[in-house]
Amino acid sequence: MKRFSAKTVIVTGGASGIGAATVRRLYEEGANVVIADLQEDAASALAQDIGDPQRLLVHALDVSDAEAVDALMEACVERFGVPDGLANCAGVRGVGSILETDLDLFRRNVAINLEGGFNTCKAFAQRLVDAGKGGAIVNVSSAAGIQGVPNRLAYVASKHGVIGLTRGAALDLGKYGIRVNVVTPGMIHTPMTAPMFEDPENVDRIRAAHPIGREGMPEEIAAAIAFALADEVAFMTGAVIPVDGGSSVGQPSH
Ligand code: NAP
Repeated sequence: MKRFSAKTVIVTGGASGIGAATVRRLYEEGANVVIADLQEDAASALAQDIGDPQRLLVHALDVSDAEAVDALMEACVERFGVPDGLANCAGVRGVGSILETDLDLFRRNVAINLEGGFNTCKAFAQRLVDAGKGGAIVNVSSAAGIQGVPNRLAYVASKHGVIGLTRGAALDLGKYGIRVNVVTPGMIHTPMTAPMFEDPENVDRIRAAHPIGREGMPEEIAAAIAFALADEVAFMTGAVIPVDGGSSVGQPSH
């Protein structure tokens, strides 16, 4: 028996990077998976590559659009029934200091990273509460959600918000048997961060900032997301789970 047999999990941002690795991991562990992403073609290509179309549903989604999120839940219920899990991997990374960040960039980061999480957590939780069913949510914040990072103002602010969203929702939803946890990845090699790995000096800096001596891989975050979604950690909610090579603990001596 696999950990997610007969379970359904929605993965936002599921077409790329951490989300795509999460889709693969949950599928391998037996889940029906809804791949929800702005990038519908990439999501379809991933589904084709994985295999059994019976256990995969591709759904075009903008998480910042609350009506679209409701339609996603509807499509999931129609295909697989009320879902068991939600992994919120959709996100964008705004670059710039507070002086360089205009209101549009700030709002875009908040709309996708924070309001998107609110929309999906709320719609998912409402479905489960209406059905009298428990479940689990894992949000993806960042190491930049627990400490400041220079020149990433909009991203840092929105990712701190994701931790607040997680803690508040965990308190509100515990009585319904719905757990809400958040992972905070360090630097992970994905399409989002690929440009940062083009300059060898930058790569050295990234590796030096992580006590474990390297960047992370999307599969390592997917493993933590699957862990936090699984029934075996049914007593864990409101937890902030760093998967960051130790970067949040302090600077290594090497
Ligand atoms: P990624 O490869 O860019 O994947 C994110 C996916 O989300 C992309 O397919 C993206 O589409 C999609 N997306 C963007 N806006 C969306 C929206 N409004 N609605 C639905 N989907 C949307 O990024 P990643 O590195 O895997 O990051 C996944 C999550 O981990 C993000 O929340 C990110 O902030 C977080 N994180 C990443 C790192 C890292 O080092 N990579 C570290 C800490 C936290 P587009 O390509 O069109 O944008």
